[in-house]
Amino acid sequence: MRIVDVRAKTVRVETNMFNARGSRVNSAATVVAAITDVIRNGKPVIGFSFSATGFQPPTHQLNERFIPKLLQMGEEELAIDPRYFDPAATLKALKKNEKLGGDGERATAIGTLECAVWDVVAKLAQVPVYRLAADRYRGGRVADKVECYVGGGWYSPDKNVKDLSDEVQKYLDMGYRTVKIKVGGAPLVDDLKRVDAALAVVGDPARLAVDANSGIAPGRLPEFAQALKNYGLRWFEEPVHPNDYQANAEFIAMYGNPVATGENQFSFEELRNLARYGGMRPGTDILQWDIPHAYGMHEAANIVRMLAEFGWSTASMVPHGGNQISLNASAAFGFGACESYPDVFGVLSGYADDLEVVDGHIAIGQWEGFGFEGQAALFAKMRELVPEYD
Ligand code: MG
Repeated sequence: MRIVDVRAKTVRVETNMFNARGSRVNSAATVVAAITDVIRNGKPVIGFSFSATGFQPPTHQLNERFIPKLLQMGEEELAIDPRYFDPAATLKALKKNEKLGGDGERATAIGTLECAVWDVVAKLAQVPVYRLAADRYRGGRVADKVECYVGGGWYSPDKNVKDLSDEVQKYLDMGYRTVKIKVGGAPLVDDLKRVDAALAVVGDPARLAVDANSGIAPGRLPEFAQALKNYGLRWFEEPVHPNDYQANAEFIAMYGNPVATGENQFSFEELRNLARYGGMRPGTDILQWDIPHAYGMHEAANIVRMLAEFGWSTASMVPHGGNQISLNASAAFGFGACESYPDVFGVLSGYADDLEVVDGHIAIGQWEGFGFEGQAALFAKMRELVPEYD
């Protein structure tokens, strides 16, 4: 059993939304197909993955470095037979000869590819990835449902407060209960009107979060902390630059209520620095690293174990990225919730088509691998990589 070919390409979706840094939504991702020599029903078993959204697609790094590296691995490094699969060895081999530090674009490339390997192995075992991971890392315990919140409330030209209220209402009508909106992209007085409007719709501050995308100038942070601290919101996300641990700790001291961050931490070491120096409080604050953006599933298991030593429970971990990867990871590791972006990123949004959100939760489904096959629009893009097997 071998992976004999791996293909990667970029998929882009046009949007005009922006956040506190003025950044347009980066709705581009790398989709990956890993073709094996195992034939079922006349066709090869193929693993798929994608790099999720919110970060530059690592297509170049994959094609240039990591796919050739994976294809050259011996069986001691990459055994896709479920009986011999050793994700630690595969991750080590993918990191071989890489200089330490500066993990970002490398971590995203490796994590995306590593997830394609998990998709292959789970398909060969004919189980979901959450089952394969839970058996390996958590004594087989799987969450039968996962809380799911909406990361929405972006700014866009011509969008007013009424439009924001309608957007939040739309999410509630879809079955979601907790919604996150952007802050910091407007004067504070206007942002407070947006927060008030969203709150009037969700009805409970514990069901509303805000996300500054590290885009509030340091001099404006005290007024934001002061103005928002008494709302009792679910969390305040990414108040400062992701690598400025001291500033994060200072914001937490000013704000007091739950703070969430970590989507721009790309490695075990960066998350350990956040736990050590970021002022983050286990049991209060929320850690949000993105599974395929931080070396994938096996590194997630390493990170969970490390964070436990700092007193963190997986209930306080809420992975960035709303997709089948974060959903499988949440069910496997027992994460506190999972993000969702209905409609926000086009085909790169959402979960398997038959999954329903009921009272803010998704009951976990049955599938092989990550279950991308159940998400028709995204899977059509993945299949474009392997047209000869249609
Ligand atoms: Mg965010």
